Amino acid sequence: MNHVLVLNSGSSSIKYQLVDVSTGEAAAGGLVERIGESEGVLRHDGPTGRTERTQVVPDHTAGVRAVLDLFDEVGPSLTELELVAVGHRVVQGGDRFTEPTLVDDDVEAAIEELSPLAPLHNPPNLAGIRAARTAFPDLPHVAIFDTAFHHTLPPEAYTYAIDRETARTYGIRRYGFHGTSHAYVSRRAAAMLGKDPAEVNLVVAHLGNGASITAVEGGCSVETSMGLTPLEGLVMGTRSGDLDPAVIFHLQRVAGMSTDEIDTLLNRRSGLLGLAGVNDLRDIHAAIEAGDDDAALALEVYCHRLRHYVGAYYAQLGRVDAVVFTAGVGENDDVVRLEALSGLERLGIVVDPERNEGRKKAETVISPDDAEVAVLVIPTNEELEIAQQAVAVVQGA
Ligand code: ADP
Repeated sequence: MNHVLVLNSGSSSIKYQLVDVSTGEAAAGGLVERIGESEGVLRHDGPTGRTERTQVVPDHTAGVRAVLDLFDEVGPSLTELELVAVGHRVVQGGDRFTEPTLVDDDVEAAIEELSPLAPLHNPPNLAGIRAARTAFPDLPHVAIFDTAFHHTLPPEAYTYAIDRETARTYGIRRYGFHGTSHAYVSRRAAAMLGKDPAEVNLVVAHLGNGASITAVEGGCSVETSMGLTPLEGLVMGTRSGDLDPAVIFHLQRVAGMSTDEIDTLLNRRSGLLGLAGVNDLRDIHAAIEAGDDDAALALEVYCHRLRHYVGAYYAQLGRVDAVVFTAGVGENDDVVRLEALSGLERLGIVVDPERNEGRKKAETVISPDDAEVAVLVIPTNEELEIAQQAVAVVQGA
């Protein structure tokens, strides 16, 4: 009884992992893509290797069904493993969900009520929960919220300086996201430093396709770059991050763009993609090699924004034990790590170029031994964090 099935349901995909919480290892995993399109794509990595196939997957219910069929066919057998729980990633928990929560009909309804705050994320998250509850009616289902780790933000950090009545009426405040990753990485950073999480102050940069940075004080999130939605903050693969809100009025009034068009522009056609035409850092580097000035500027804007936040969060924390990089870019891109922290020597933040070199598949210290502030690379593991939190809820229930 050590296995948890972790589901991450997106608008057209379901990612899943079968996690053995006693070892921290994934016993199997995979994804269903192109749900609702003419042909769905399934990929399952199990004990016998990889299985790939295409089949029509009209909705999330069919997607979950397809995943269970794959487990039945190629293993491991979920019946024999006697799952402890199913853990579900849910993006927006609002003010209501500050802890991992056992799902019942009321919780489902509350996740639905929060959908206006996360229209792209909560509805598919919920579709996955409903499909899985139908498939496993007798198992506990636990919702783990991306926002939960940030419930410790103090009011001065989560309050936007707008009319307070309007903000209250519409739930407008900073919520923060990627909390599962920030929580996992913070705990691992404390372990690497040989300290209790309650003793450490950290600046954690989760740099994936989406990206956010969090100031962690004594193990708790006290400031984070994503806000009401995951659009604010750092430059991302396709999202702009910070910009003057008046850009939106300007595009409406002068360019005649609709709200939906601006939403698409800022969420899907901006960031690295908007600046350089490609959103993957590997492609950015290749373009720079080929002499592309737009790509060179994109990388500079990306690192400049990151450095700005590291400095700001240092000022908020007063003392920083470590700066931590995680997720696709943070774990793999040595140029970003070096550039983003360049010029911060006066703050005690120094990267050792040799230690920094290359992709990091394991937890690595990339600062010199005598550095005042440690710089760490820690591969994130959101699935393990979700599985462990789900088990904790089930055992505490
Ligand atoms: P997601 O937000 O989709 O979970 P990931 O954390 O997997 O994203 O990060 C994906 C991003 O990581 C890619 O878009 C790319 O920019 C970056 N990345 C992945 N591998 C490398 C690499 N070897 N070098 C530089 N960047 C990389």
